[in-house]
Amino acid sequence: MKGFAMLGIGKTGWITKDKPACGPLDAVVRPIAIAPCTSDVHTVWEGAIGERSNLILGHEGVAEVVETGSMVKDFKKGDRVIIPAITPDWSAVESQEGYSTHSGGLLNGWKFSNSKDGVFGEFFHVNDADGNLAILPKGLDPCSATMLSDMVPTGVHGAELADVQFGDDVAVIGIGPVGLMAVAAAVLRGAARVFAVGSRAVCVDVAKKYGATDIVNYRDGGIVEQIMEMTGKKGVDRVIIAGGDVNTMIEAITILKPGGRVGNVNYLGAGDHVLIPRLEWGCGMSHKQIHCGLMPGGRRRMEKLAALLVTKRLDPSLMLTHRFHGLEAVEPALMLMKDKPRDLIKPVVLVDK
Ligand code: NDP
Ligand code: ZN
Repeated sequence: MKGFAMLGIGKTGWITKDKPACGPLDAVVRPIAIAPCTSDVHTVWEGAIGERSNLILGHEGVAEVVETGSMVKDFKKGDRVIIPAITPDWSAVESQEGYSTHSGGLLNGWKFSNSKDGVFGEFFHVNDADGNLAILPKGLDPCSATMLSDMVPTGVHGAELADVQFGDDVAVIGIGPVGLMAVAAAVLRGAARVFAVGSRAVCVDVAKKYGATDIVNYRDGGIVEQIMEMTGKKGVDRVIIAGGDVNTMIEAITILKPGGRVGNVNYLGAGDHVLIPRLEWGCGMSHKQIHCGLMPGGRRRMEKLAALLVTKRLDPSLMLTHRFHGLEAVEPALMLMKDKPRDLIKPVVLVDK
């Protein structure tokens, strides 16, 4: 089978591999719709997690089951399924402790395009099929449902990590697809004002549709100055970080009220240290908390988030600015993600031929 791979840091290309084998608990599936992620860009072009060679990329997709292992109970050949970007080992002790994303070690629930081939191939393997697949609800568009793999759960996790409560003022730093889902999630959790920080006009428009009340263009001036001015120097109750770099934490801590909480889901692709500003952190006594996380995956999480799409509480299709057809199109779709033209939010590829 062929797949689009990371050949080495900074290099991508098409490769040929054997079709994956199916273990007793596993499934082999063929993609129906897939999408590239900014994380693929950090991994390939920043070398953020180190060298990888001939590793098929991609971790977002909806697929059809072609084979299941002898011990798989709830899925069969022909089922159309949502695949979470994070596919934990559900029997690992870390999963039993509530941190399935770190099953088997730090970030080890993240397997696709990290420790094994990802979804940009003619077929791919899913570990622990009963624990990690979810049936694609009837009537749900596969392209929209592909956003359930990663964009929806990561944005939602940002709001969970920041612990957004009714009436909170929330700043979402970064309104690419992850931040946009964080805006929507903060609104679903009852936020009052939602400050959306970004500059692409297309993202700003969609942020407003998801319920952002205030827009902050970080290219027009400092985030801190703008948000402090807009809040009468009070700052915000919660900050969700879904963009920026290692310096963004300085801004997040500075605009946070005492006792407030930062939820970081940004994947820091470069830099050695994340700095916390001493005075703004109350010399270490501010009760300003920092929570960070890789998105939780797994079947139940997918089923619950899919229910938000079925009930039309959340519509990720607003983010799908570029639609492609055919597996080969993952290459130009990924290059779009790398180059981030101003009219891009998220590309998706329907593998329909
Ligand atoms: P995008 O690149 O599409 O969006 C990034 C956003 O951050 C844009 O709105 C951009 O603004 C803004 N931004 C860039 N630089 C700054 C800055 N210096 N200050 C403030 N805002 C800035 O990324 P995605 O939405 O696709 O992904 C966001 C992050 O989430 C990535 O790092 C990705 O790897 C990570 N991620 C993490 C996961 C997890 O499990 N924790 C899972 C999936 C993704 P502009 O409008 O100018 O472009
Ligand atoms: Zn991703």
